[in-house]
Amino acid sequence: MSRAIYKIKPIVLFSQNYLPMAEINLQRAAVLLVTDRAEPLSLLADGEERVWQMRSPNRILTIPVHIRLVVGGSDRIWKTPPVNRREVLRRDHHTCQYCGSQKQLTLDHVIPRSQGGPHTWDNVVTACAPCNAQKGARTPKQSRMPLQRKPKAPMNPVVAFAEQFWKEQKTEQEV
Ligand SMILES: [Zn+2]
Repeated sequence: MSRAIYKIKPIVLFSQNYLPMAEINLQRAAVLLVTDRAEPLSLLADGEERVWQMRSPNRILTIPVHIRLVVGGSDRIWKTPPVNRREVLRRDHHTCQYCGSQKQLTLDHVIPRSQGGPHTWDNVVTACAPCNAQKGARTPKQSRMPLQRKPKAPMNPVVAFAEQFWKEQKTEQEV
């Protein structure tokens, strides 16, 4: 089981509960299949799924593009991270949400705490020090500094992957 005859393409791994979880490579998929930890999953009614083949001296392993884990414990419990500097900067890709700068980053309360703004994911954004100083204790409207995007809590990466996966499936079928 050494050489893939086709270009290496990712396989989509589904959880036991049929939730698309992640893209994995052929080798990883092969290991899961031969150790009976995953099974082929057919998404199409006619069963005409694309497959990949891996060849070794004494066998050919066919790997479907979608496989499903048959063992449990894969849907890891995920909690929304705390609203702190590290997590907010990560969500905002280390970019000031007012001007796009990536320098002197601070946290800004969109509705200032002095005006009753909460310390929550939808009210805390990354702002560079100059923007933060310019905005002061005012709302974006009061300071005429609009946000580049509406802040919201980060999504469970597995759920985010699943949403993206189904969106792409829909696009492919419409073409
Ligand atoms: Zn800025």
